[in-house]
Amino acid sequence: MPAALTQTRSTCPYCGVGCGVIIEHDGTRIHNVSGDAAHPANFGKLCTKGATLHLTAGLDNRVLTPWLRKNKTAARAPASWDTALDHCAERFADVIREHGPDAVGFYISGQLLTEDYYVFNKLVKGLIGTNNVDTNSRLCMSSAVAGYKQTLGMDAPPACYEDIDHADLLVIAGSNTAYAHPVLYRRIEEARAARNTRNATTANPATPTGAANPGGVTGSPPVKTIVIDPRKTDTAAEADLHLQILPGTDIALYNAMLHVLLWEGMIDRGFIERSTSGFDALKESVREMTPAAAARICGLKEADIITAARMFGNARAALSLYCQGLNQSWHGTHNNAALINLHLATGQIGKPGAGPFSLTGQPNAMGGREVGGLANLVSAHRDMASAADRAEVAALWGVAEVPSKPGKTAVEMFEAARKGEIKALWIACTNPAQSMPDLTSVREALTNCEFIVVQEAFGNTDTVDFADVLLPASTWGEKHGTVTNSERRITRVFPAVPPPGEAKHDWDIVNQFALRLGARLDADNRYQDKAGQSTAGQRQSGKAATAQRMFTYNSPEAIWNEHRESTRGRDLDITGLSYALLDTQGPQQWPYAEGASTGKQRLYEDGKFPTANGRARFVVTPYLGVREPVNAQYPLQLTTGRLRDHWHGMSRTGRAARLFSHVEEPLLTLHPSDLARRGLAAGDLAKVASRRGGFVVRVEAGESVRMGQAFMPMHWGAQFMKGFGVNTVTVPAFDPFSKQPELKAAAIEVTRATLPHRVVAMRTMAAEDGVARLNEALKPVLQRFDYASLTLAGRDHSTVVLRGYHSEAVPDDWLAEIDQLLALDEPARVMRYVDASRRVEKAARIDGGVMTAFCLSGETAAAEWLKGMMLGRATLDAVRPWLLAPVSAPPKGSVVRGRIVCNCLDVSESDIMHAIKNGADLGQLQATLQCGTSCGSCVPELRQMLHARAMPSRNAKEAA
Ligand code: SF4
Repeated sequence: MPAALTQTRSTCPYCGVGCGVIIEHDGTRIHNVSGDAAHPANFGKLCTKGATLHLTAGLDNRVLTPWLRKNKTAARAPASWDTALDHCAERFADVIREHGPDAVGFYISGQLLTEDYYVFNKLVKGLIGTNNVDTNSRLCMSSAVAGYKQTLGMDAPPACYEDIDHADLLVIAGSNTAYAHPVLYRRIEEARAARNTRNATTANPATPTGAANPGGVTGSPPVKTIVIDPRKTDTAAEADLHLQILPGTDIALYNAMLHVLLWEGMIDRGFIERSTSGFDALKESVREMTPAAAARICGLKEADIITAARMFGNARAALSLYCQGLNQSWHGTHNNAALINLHLATGQIGKPGAGPFSLTGQPNAMGGREVGGLANLVSAHRDMASAADRAEVAALWGVAEVPSKPGKTAVEMFEAARKGEIKALWIACTNPAQSMPDLTSVREALTNCEFIVVQEAFGNTDTVDFADVLLPASTWGEKHGTVTNSERRITRVFPAVPPPGEAKHDWDIVNQFALRLGARLDADNRYQDKAGQSTAGQRQSGKAATAQRMFTYNSPEAIWNEHRESTRGRDLDITGLSYALLDTQGPQQWPYAEGASTGKQRLYEDGKFPTANGRARFVVTPYLGVREPVNAQYPLQLTTGRLRDHWHGMSRTGRAARLFSHVEEPLLTLHPSDLARRGLAAGDLAKVASRRGGFVVRVEAGESVRMGQAFMPMHWGAQFMKGFGVNTVTVPAFDPFSKQPELKAAAIEVTRATLPHRVVAMRTMAAEDGVARLNEALKPVLQRFDYASLTLAGRDHSTVVLRGYHSEAVPDDWLAEIDQLLALDEPARVMRYVDASRRVEKAARIDGGVMTAFCLSGETAAAEWLKGMMLGRATLDAVRPWLLAPVSAPPKGSVVRGRIVCNCLDVSESDIMHAIKNGADLGQLQATLQCGTSCGSCVPELRQMLHARAMPSRNAKEAA
C-alpha cells in the first residue's frame, strides 16, 4: 500500500453474508479493497464481487446534483437542493391534502443502512400517516419473515455461521450458495474438507449421516450435504445428494420427508411435547404425502426422498440454509414453514450445528426488518395488528397514532400506481423498472404515476428514466451507519471518502424532506379527505411542529440510538450496544440487551419460543404447485437466478469490465433436447414469449436445467439488452401471507428469432477516458435493433461491446453513428472494407500498433478473435492481412482467450482445459495456473471441469 493511503473499515454492499472490508483510500478516491481479517462473517475472505468493489467506485454515471422537471414532457434540468426538496414537499403535500395519505407510496431498499431505513419508516408511518412503505426486500426475504413468524413466533434466524462448522448435515434449499453467498460457501467447503478428511480413515464415506457413522476421531461425524434445487448448479453438483425437484414442488418434498420421519420413528417426541404445538394436525395432513406420491409431484426418485429423510432424521445436527428458491413463490411462506416443520419435528433447532437458517439476499435486509420498514411491519418486530404495539411506537415517536391498516406491498403498490390510486411515489436505492415481476405493468405504473421521486446514487438505472425529481444519494464507501447480516450481526459502516458533488446521505435527504413536508401540510387547512372526514394526518395536528420534533437528527448515531431504544424488551433487544461498543469490540449479534456482555450466538437453546404459550408452532402446509403451470402454448418453465460475478440490476457490478468475463452477455439456458426440438443451436437468437410479454435473447445449451425447464439470470436490464430483461415474463402472483411474488416460475415458449443482419462493434479504452459516456451514447442505438446487447469486456482496459441483430439490412446512418461513437470515423487511423452490393462493411481502428476499435456489419465471422486481439492489446503485425477478412478461425499469431473462469487471477477456460487435458488435477491447476487460489469463487467450477473431463474416460472404461 502506498504510504499516503488510509484504511477504513466497512462492509461489502452486496449479499447478506455481510463480509467486512478494508477500504484503502486517499481521502478523496478509493484505491483498493481487501477482506477484513477481524470480521467474523468472512475472516478476511472476499468473493469476486467484493474484491472488485474499488473498481466500481468511480464517478461515472453518478448523480452529482438534484435534477428536476416540472412536468412529464419537460426535460430534467439541474436544480438546487432547496428547489428540488421544496418541489417534492409541495407535490406530496398536494396529493396528501387532495387524496389522503394512502395516495402516496415509498418504495425503498435492503441496500439502505439501518439508519436510513428507520427515518424513512418514521416519515411514512409517523408523520404522513400511511403504511405505504415497502422495500425490495419484499422480493427477497418476506417469505422467510412470514415463515419464521408463523412457526417460531418472531422474525429471527435462530442459527449462526459458526453452526456450519458444527453441522453434520447441511440442507441447502433453493440456493446456489456457491454463486449467491460465495464466502459462506467457502466456509462450507472448509468444514467439509476438515471434517471429512479427519474422518476418512475411520468412516465409511457411503454412510449418509453421522449417527450411523460414529467413526469420527473427535466424535465429529463427516459433513454431508443435500441440495434441493431445480437446477444442477455448482452448489448442487458438489452435494452428496441433489434433489433436482420440479419448480414449485418444495412443500410436497418436505411433507413427504416428514411422512418418512414419522413412519420410521425418527422424530423427537420429547421436544415436540415440550416445545411445540399443532403437531397432530400436521401429522394428519402429511398422511397421504407418501414418498411415492411426492416423487411423482417433484419429479424425483422415491428412494432419494427416503434417503433425504433418513439423512435428516439420523443427523446429529442438521442445518438448513435457504434463500430465494423457497421465498420467491406464491406459497413462499409455507415453503419456509414446511422446512421448519422438519426441524421442529426432529428437535433440530437451538443447538450447535442445527436450525433453519434463512440466508438474506441483500446486505441489510435484516436491518430493514428490524426497524419495521415494510408495509406490514412495525418497529422492532412489533405487530401491526396489535393496538398496544402500535401505541408503543406512536409514543416513542411522539405522534397520536401509527395507522393500523397494512400498507401496500411491492406488487400492490405498483398496481395501485398503475390504477391511479397512488399518485406520488418515492423510490430510493432500488430499481423496480428492472427488478419487479411483470415489467410491462410496472412500467405502465411508473408512466402513469403523477409524480415520481428517485433517490439514487447512479444515474443510469432503468428506473431513473421515470423520475420527475432525481436526488443524488451517497453510496458504498461514503456512508456512515450500521448494517445487519444474515446471522443477526450488526456491523458499523464507516465512510472512506465524502459523497461526490452535491450527493447527500439517504437519512439526511429524508430528514430535510420531512421538515418541509410537515410545514406544507400545516400550511393548509384543507387537509381532509374527499368525504370531508378528517384524515389521520389532520388528527395529528401541528404537522410542522411534529416534524420538527421527530426529525432533529444531525448524525446517524442519533437515529440509531432511537432505534436501539425501540428494541428495549423486544426479542431483538440491542439496548446493551452502542456505536462506541461496536467500534471498539467489533460486530455483534442481537439480542444484546442492556447488562449483557455478549450477543446471542443462537436462539431458542432453552426450547422456549417467543409465542403466547412459549411453544413453536407446527404449520399445516398443503401442497400447491406453481401459479402458472406449463401448457401446450407455453410448454417451458422458466426460473430466474443469479450469476457468480454480478449482483441484482448491476448498477454497481456493471461498472467493472472484468466482472463480465465469466458470463459476457444475456443468455437463456435450455436443455440441449429442448433446443434441438426447436431447431435451435447454442448461440442462436430466440424469442421468449409468455402471457405478459416477451423478448429476444441468445440461447445456450446447458444440462444444468432439466428438459422442459429454462433459466435466465435476473441481472440484465435495459442497460445491457434490448427490452427490459427477464422480468418481462415473470409472474406477479404473490404469497397471501408474505406478499412475495413468484419470481421463480413462469410458463414460456421459446421459438427461433430470425434476425440475419448483424453488427458487432467494440471500443477499448481506459475507464477514465469515458467508457460510461460511450455506453450512455450507445443506449439509444441498443434499443433501435430488433435485438442487441451492450456489455463490457476486458481487465485493465474496458472494452464496450455492442452486438446488434436486425431483420433488415442495418441502415447506413446507424452504422455511421456507431462509427462516430467508436472513433472509427478518422480515416488516418482506420482500415475499412466495404462491399455495398452485399451490405458488408468493416472497419478497424489501430493506435500505436494495436487495435482499439472495430465494427463488423453484414459479416461478423472474425468478431471473437478480433476481440481477443483487442483485449490482449496484441500487436497486429502477424494478422494485419486478415483483420477485415471473413475468417472465423483465429489466424496464426492471433490471441483468443475466451471465457475467464478465475476472475482474480485472470485464468481462461481454454488454459484450464488445456492443463486438464494434460492430466492436471485441482492441486496442479492451482499450482501452475494459480486459478482458484485467491477468492476461491471459481473452485466449484474447476471441480466441475475436472469431473466433466473425467467422466468420458470413466464411461469408456466401464463400457470396455
Ligand atoms: Fe460481498 Fe461476496 Fe461477501 Fe457477499 S460473499 S458480502 S458479495 S464479498
